[in-house]
Amino acid sequence: MDASPLCLLTVHAHPDDEASKGAPTLAKYHAEGVRTVLVCCTGGEEGDLQNPSLREPGQPFHGLTPEQDKALLAELRPHELARSAEIIGFDVVEMLGYRDSGMPDSESNQHPDCFHMAPLDEAVGRLVAIIRRERPQVIITYGDDQRGYLHPDHLRVHDISGPAFERAGEAAWYPELGEPWQPQKLYYSMWSKARLLAVHEGMIKHRGESPYEQDWLDRAGQDHRITTRIQVGDFLWARSGSLRAHATQVDPNEPWWFGLDDQQLADVYPWEDWILARSLVGEPSAEAIAAGELESDLFAGVRSAAVTP
Ligand SMILES: [Zn+2]
Repeated sequence: MDASPLCLLTVHAHPDDEASKGAPTLAKYHAEGVRTVLVCCTGGEEGDLQNPSLREPGQPFHGLTPEQDKALLAELRPHELARSAEIIGFDVVEMLGYRDSGMPDSESNQHPDCFHMAPLDEAVGRLVAIIRRERPQVIITYGDDQRGYLHPDHLRVHDISGPAFERAGEAAWYPELGEPWQPQKLYYSMWSKARLLAVHEGMIKHRGESPYEQDWLDRAGQDHRITTRIQVGDFLWARSGSLRAHATQVDPNEPWWFGLDDQQLADVYPWEDWILARSLVGEPSAEAIAAGELESDLFAGVRSAAVTP
C-alpha cells in the first residue's frame, strides 16, 4: 500500500516561470490539500528590468547605472519568487542552485556555474535528490517542443526532467542521494492554440485590440497532443497575483499579461492544458482523446492506487 500523501512537483527555469506557466493548476491542487513543490533551476540573474514604471522618480530603479540595476535585480528576485510562491500556495520552494544561462550568444552562457554548462548527470542528480526527498507522484516539466521560446535554461529543464523521473526510482543511480522513489506521471506544460485564439478574441471583444500579432495566430499548435484539461476558472487569481509579485519582470500595464482580468479570462478559457508524457498508471486512449475525452485530473490513476490497501 502506498500511503504517501499526494504531492505535485513542478520544475521551472527562472523565478517568474512558475507564475506564467501553470500557477492556477498548482493553486487548485494546493487548495485541495495536495503538497506542492516548486523546483526553480536558476536564480534568474540574467533577467532585465521589464517594468518601466520602476524607473520613474521615487521608484527603486530611478537613475541607476546598468551595474546597479543588475545588483538590485539580483537582490529583489529571490523576494519576488518567495512572494509569488506564497500566493500560489507552494508548500516548498527548492532552488536547484544553478546560474541563469542567459541567451545563446551572451557571455553569461559560458559562465561555469550556469545551468546549461552543468554536466547533465550532475544536474539530473540534484533533481533526483529533491524527488527522493519530496516523493511526488506527479511531476510537471517543459515539453520536448519549445519552438516558441528557445531559452537554454528552458531546454535544459526538459532535458534533466525525463532522466530524473526514471533515475529517482532506480537504486543503482545516485545511491548517496536518498531512498529511491518512483514518480508515477510526468506532464509537459504547453500553451494550447485553443487558449490563444480564445484570449485573442476576448481581447478584441473587451479592449478592441489584441497583443497577439498574426505570426502568433498562424503558428502551428500542439493541441492534438493535449491529454489533460484542468478546470481552473476559480484559480486565475493565482496567475495574476503571482505575476504581479514579480514586479521587476512583469509590467502591470502590459496587455499581454493583464489585457483580460481574471473573470474575463475565466469566461473565455477557464482551463489549463497539459500533455501526459509518461505514466505508470495508465493513460487516456488515443480514441478517447480524439473524441475529446481528456483527463480532468493530474492524479487520475494515482489516487485510487494511493488509497487501495
Ligand atoms: Zn524562464
